[in-house]
Amino acid sequence: MSHVEPTAVGADQVGEGAVVPHGDGVGGSGGDVATAEAQVAVAVSTSGDERRGDYGDDAENEEEEAATVQGSKEGTEELLRKVVYSEEAAYKLYCDYGHRMGFSIRKGKQSYFTGTKRIRTKDYFCSKEGLKEGEKLTDTNFNDPHTRTNCRAMVRFRVNDQGEWKVIRLVSDHNHNLARPEERHLLRSARSLIAGRSSSVEVMLYEGYQVQPQLPAGSTSATNNVENPKQDLLLGYGATAKTLTVGTGDVQSLVSHLKSRANEDGMFYWDVQLDRGGRMTNFFWRDGRSRTDYDCFGDVVVFDSTYRLSKQNLIFAPFVGVNHHWQTTMYGCALLADESTSSFVWLFKSFLESMGNRHPQSIFTNLDQVVSKAVEEVFPSACHRIAHWHIQKNAQSRLGALNVSKPFNKMFTKCIQGCDSETEFEEAWAQMLCEFKLQDNKWLKKLYKLKQKWCSALNKCTFDGGIEYEPQCDNMSNIFNNVSDKLTSLCAIAVAVDKQTEDWREKELDEDARCLQKPPACIIKHSDILNHAAKVYTHRIYKLFETDFLDGCGATKFKELPCQDNNTYQFEMTMQGRGSRVCTVHFNMPTMRLSCSCSKFETMGLLCPHALKALSIKNICKIPESCILKRWTKDAKKWVFNPKQYESSYQECMNDEAAYCNYVMRYAYDLVTKSQGQEALRKVLWETLESGEKELEGYLENVTQHAPSYAT
Ligand SMILES: [Zn+2]
Ligand SMILES: [Zn+2]
Repeated sequence: MSHVEPTAVGADQVGEGAVVPHGDGVGGSGGDVATAEAQVAVAVSTSGDERRGDYGDDAENEEEEAATVQGSKEGTEELLRKVVYSEEAAYKLYCDYGHRMGFSIRKGKQSYFTGTKRIRTKDYFCSKEGLKEGEKLTDTNFNDPHTRTNCRAMVRFRVNDQGEWKVIRLVSDHNHNLARPEERHLLRSARSLIAGRSSSVEVMLYEGYQVQPQLPAGSTSATNNVENPKQDLLLGYGATAKTLTVGTGDVQSLVSHLKSRANEDGMFYWDVQLDRGGRMTNFFWRDGRSRTDYDCFGDVVVFDSTYRLSKQNLIFAPFVGVNHHWQTTMYGCALLADESTSSFVWLFKSFLESMGNRHPQSIFTNLDQVVSKAVEEVFPSACHRIAHWHIQKNAQSRLGALNVSKPFNKMFTKCIQGCDSETEFEEAWAQMLCEFKLQDNKWLKKLYKLKQKWCSALNKCTFDGGIEYEPQCDNMSNIFNNVSDKLTSLCAIAVAVDKQTEDWREKELDEDARCLQKPPACIIKHSDILNHAAKVYTHRIYKLFETDFLDGCGATKFKELPCQDNNTYQFEMTMQGRGSRVCTVHFNMPTMRLSCSCSKFETMGLLCPHALKALSIKNICKIPESCILKRWTKDAKKWVFNPKQYESSYQECMNDEAAYCNYVMRYAYDLVTKSQGQEALRKVLWETLESGEKELEGYLENVTQHAPSYAT
């Protein structure tokens, strides 16, 4: 730091203002080392003759000066020529250049006109500028976009007295590889531009609302009914329908918000339920991207109606799921005025309608009889499950001190998700009741009656995405902590949900980028099946696969049993360290059909250690095609809407006009979403549509010319 100061002081003495750090760098995580580095870079470039050039006193000379360019001039023309008039525009200009070239941008230092807050010069750096403290540079991480490599590429803008921003210094060479064209939309600063735009629109809308004073909560008898704390969540009947008691201005602002979202997003969906008096009671909404995500991952839905907004006396109820990286993904959310069956039935129907009536295979909810009833009515074919995190949360209040006891907790958890068979579960349950003298516990009795809905041993036939085994799933019950009582208006709640959703989508993009950059490091370098898995699965799913593979091949004993069918093999597998538990695998060689009594593939869509062991015994070095679930692969979101992929839907589209419209609209929407982040992609789609139109018009003309004429 000390060697920086003399220059800074020097600059001050010349009367050009000191270089000061600027706080809101994009891309975050600027470590101290990186900041110090940057200051050194500035100090060096502002010393000696060059500094005179940068901070030249003579305003007239300044106008004629050409920018100093260090490195290749390729692609720099617009950046050097263009004059902009604000910091944002300057930032955007360099960002645009960066994204064309394939690098991300970080904001740097600025200097001010002496004695003012007016910016005189402003620096922007390549995001790989500086070094991150404690990070070791290796061949593998060097070109990773998040690694700092002390890259010197930068630009400096100077503002003249007329407020014109011009580039006066450009370092265009990088010390690392640049992102390839197909990866460029994933660059961090490219994304923040898009996100920044949409959220600022929301802020504008939000701030523009006039929130009306609210009626005092509980001013109607119906409200009081709901306000009474429920004695028993399992017996949740009795709540009667009521209208929203929040101020009409508040409801109006929510409606305006939803309408404007719908204007921006052609696939946005929202629905409101009116009571007999025509007043709004319940809301549901989701955006276009949620629909696309549901089309890809809608096999499992998690619904939670335990959030309470005490100020508005409302229930906030989100629908979420898991994407191909095993991350949370947003499907939509609701604000409900009460917990009546009719409200939930309305909500679930609205949800289904918004998703093209595609039913999930499994739906996880909280422990609530009213919700259960509505699920059975609206999702008759789905497997209804009560998420274990809700049971465990409930147990805390129901079982008191007992729930803190470690031995009890261990047994309780085993009953919920640690048993392999119904017999094992029944034994464990009986033993738990006996050991802790719980035979008369009413809550456990009721819970037992619902065992079909929460015991994993009893749910081995339906896909559930392994959602209850996801390490973060215990947080599932409070993922919307930001949607809390602190928010004063319904609209603020909607904005908070959008924010949360945006964060998740950002994380998904990060994972997408990680998967695109390089395959995961395989623990065994030359294992064909692991390399195959690394190629098809996303990184996170690959890791699960790898663990199962190691368990199967490194810690499983097998016994081959005779089979009547010559082509089928049967094995009994015993995993070391798991007692005498035996799993039976059947493997049909010609059809590559695999099944195991542990049912991991049925529930999770991934091969279990036992099946992997069987493949290994038979020298199969690839995962059978039928055992790769698309939703876990890197291609999970590709080719989803091209109906030619699936013969049946293609035929449907050809025969039915409405089905055709529906499909093509979603297909087009998906392509628009995928292309919007990057100019080159936008161009590609634009041109494709143009040539499509040309062909269509040409065809129409042709048909008209050759049509028989009926004119007399
Ligand atoms: Zn760079
Ligand atoms: Zn198995």
